[in-house]
This record gives sequence, structure tokens and C-alpha cells, in this order.
Amino acid sequence: MYYGGIEAGGTKFVCAVSDENFEIIEAISIPTTVPEVTMTKVFAFFDQYQLQAIGVGSFGPIDVNLDSDTYGYITSTPKKGWNNYNFVGAIKDKYNIPVAWTTDVNAAAYGEYRRGSAQQAKSCLYLTIGTGIGGGAILNEKIVEGFGHPEMGHILVRRHSADTFEGTCPYHGDCLEGLAAGPAIEQRLGKKGNMVAKDDPYWEQEAYYIAQALMTYTLILRPEKLILGGGVMKQQHLLPLIRQSFQALLNDYVAIPDLDSYIVTPGLVDHAGITGSILLAAEKAI
Ligand code: ADP
Ligand code: ZN
Repeated sequence: MYYGGIEAGGTKFVCAVSDENFEIIEAISIPTTVPEVTMTKVFAFFDQYQLQAIGVGSFGPIDVNLDSDTYGYITSTPKKGWNNYNFVGAIKDKYNIPVAWTTDVNAAAYGEYRRGSAQQAKSCLYLTIGTGIGGGAILNEKIVEGFGHPEMGHILVRRHSADTFEGTCPYHGDCLEGLAAGPAIEQRLGKKGNMVAKDDPYWEQEAYYIAQALMTYTLILRPEKLILGGGVMKQQHLLPLIRQSFQALLNDYVAIPDLDSYIVTPGLVDHAGITGSILLAAEKAI
């Protein structure tokens, strides 16, 4: 029995097939170009297997509302060819099998919840700080979605007193993503995040923005774990700065688990999204 998973990102698609124990048998990476090209390669890969179901964790925004006419679509992306793309429809037309459909970060949160840092918990939140900022949450063992999926990267944060950067978000300017995602770091400092020195004072500002967001998520959702992924978090010195800033901001207002086990990096490292997609496929197949 095989399950398929697609981690559909703006730069690349990771596709994987697992056995019934969720062990990955084969995986490939396909560049994200236009749907006709990318999806042809995706299908050529999955054609090799008799799949029970496919799970997709996609870049967004996407339509996850089952009552909507455009359920299963990528909606308003600027990425050429993917705007209003009927992703679930394309898979169903090809294979006629159950398709689990959620955001890339929801899939990563689910992967971490079942197999990663939050295995012992009933709730968690996964935040990626990369090209964009996005988050997904599991509460009472379920992915949090309502009319649509959360957009945790676009919350407003209080500006650091030393920061005059206007922000990169085309919708909000200086929302969290506009101030703290990878491109914001690059535009503000004139170099990519991986080239910024560990002791650059900027990291304290970055930590301040992320810590504010984590405080907001903590106050609204009270999850058992906050898991931080994405390219910017490859800066290992950032995690302690975030914890420190978070503790100062929260000021013991509510109880949280032990700080070092509350704010963590992904147990599955870079495989949270694809693992979650496969696990969601299996749930859909039952
Ligand atoms: P994506 O969000 O596109 O899936 P990533 O999570 O790798 O991909 O995020 C890419 C962003 O993270 C880029 O803006 C890049 O500059 C930044 N980034 C990648 N690696 C590092 C690093 N080691 N330190 C700081 N920033 C990084
Ligand atoms: Zn925004």
C-alpha cells in the first residue's frame, strides 16, 4: 500500500511515496515553473506507483473551504500560471483517488505533531521564516482552519525603536512578514541573511519581531509547542535570542511549558512538510 505526498513550494515541489508504515521509498525534487511542466513531472513520478491517496501541502493562498466552488485551488498567487489553478482537480482527474489538501505550513505542523518535535503533545504551532512567513496550528489533534486557512505571517507587530525599514509586504508594508522574512532582511541590510554576521545587532531586532508573533500565538491559541522552521532559522544563534525576547515580552503573564522545550526547531528538520503530506494522505484513504 502506497501513499503519495507533495510539498508544493514556490521554488520547488518535493514529491514522495511512502509504504503503509510511512517510510519514504522514493522522493524527488522538481522545480516550480508553470503547471503544465511541473505537474507533468509530478505525474510521471507518481505514475510508477499504485497510490491509495495523495496529500498536498501547498504554497498559497489556497482555498480549503469545502463549501467553496474553488475548493482545491491555489487562489491569488503572483506566480505565473498558478493563479486560480485547480490543483486538487488536476490530481483527481489523473488518478481518481482521495486527495488531502492543505497549506505547506499546516502539513509541516501536522508532520511535527505526529512524528517530530510535538509527538508527545495534542497541540502545536509551526512557523516558517523563509521567503515568506507562515504558520499552521494543530489544536485538539486537528488542523486549525475556519472560513479559510490562517495567515499567521501577516500579523502586525510593534516596531523596534532602532528599525526604520519600511517593510516589504505589498499588502501591509511592515507586517511581520514585511519586516522579518528573508527578503526583508536582505533589503534592509543589503545582503542575504546567511551573510549577516552572528554578532550583528540586527539579529536582536529579528528576534524581537518573531518573539512578538510567538507571544500573540501563545495568547490566542495556548499551544503546547512552538516550532520554528525555514531558511532564516538556520541561524542557530537566533533561537536563544527569540526565547529571551519572548520571555521578557510575556513577562510570566500565562504559564507555558519549560521555555527551552516550548520554542524549538523541527524534529523532522527539513522533512516536516513532506511527512505531514503523506500522513494526511493516509488519513484521507481510511
Ligand atoms: P522558502 O521559504 O522559499 O521555502 P527557505 O525556507 O529556504 O525557502 O527560505 C529562503 C529565505 O531564507 C531566503 O530569503 C534566504 O535568504 C533565507 N535564508 C536561507 N538560508 C539562510 C541562512 N542560513 N541564514 C539566514 N537566512 C537564510
Ligand atoms: Zn503582510
